[in-house]
Amino acid sequence: MTSKITIAIDGFSSTGKSTLAKQLAKELGYVYVDTGAMYRAIALFAMQNGYITEEFFDKESLIHSLPFIRLQFEYKPELGFAIMIMNDMDVEKEIRTIEVSGFVSKIATVDEVRAKLVEQQQEMGKGKGIVMDGRDIGTVVFPDAELKIYMTATAETRAQRRFDELTQKGDAVTYEEVYANVVERDYIDTHRANSPLVKAPDAIEIDNSDMTREEQLALVLALVQKANS
Ligand code: C5P
Repeated sequence: MTSKITIAIDGFSSTGKSTLAKQLAKELGYVYVDTGAMYRAIALFAMQNGYITEEFFDKESLIHSLPFIRLQFEYKPELGFAIMIMNDMDVEKEIRTIEVSGFVSKIATVDEVRAKLVEQQQEMGKGKGIVMDGRDIGTVVFPDAELKIYMTATAETRAQRRFDELTQKGDAVTYEEVYANVVERDYIDTHRANSPLVKAPDAIEIDNSDMTREEQLALVLALVQKANS
């Protein structure tokens, strides 16, 4: 009999972490948690309340508001994944815009934000049988995860994927704008003092620049089997 494990997937933005995590959760009957959605929801809250603009960031007001931000995931069988609910509001669509992407990495540098979200993520993963993706899952949230994947792909490949995703949804963005956002977030995420994006020493690196989704899933399912034996 196979027991349930914890699968941590980290990597740069738009490396296809969430696609892989969703496929794995479906195949294995695990719970999928998109931690980026949680940081995005906090960024949306900060934007809605005028705490962050291009010109300034009122960090203190955001920190004081944190106890009043309630984040939940609600599983939608028709979508096959859970949507983000912030203070009882469905914010799934709003958190995926390029505007939120433009502020989220700055929000994610705040120690108090990270502490709140990491605590909630650890609570969600207590029962194992979880696939969680983000930037610090294998290093900070679940350093003891049985399987850690670190995903990479070139910035051009990632920007193209994100550009296709956004334009398919009808967002008016340019490739250059998306590429600049990908590169900026890579920089902030790898250079912040608190929990920067780094490959955990025991993580398995997958560069999927030239891999199909099917090839990638087959590879990782084999790794799950190995981690379980
Ligand atoms: O995964 P996604 O691209 O939606 O994440 C949005 C942003 O949230 C990242 O660029 C990063 O700044 C932040 N993040 C983080 N730690 C996580 C997940 C996301 O700092 N575990």
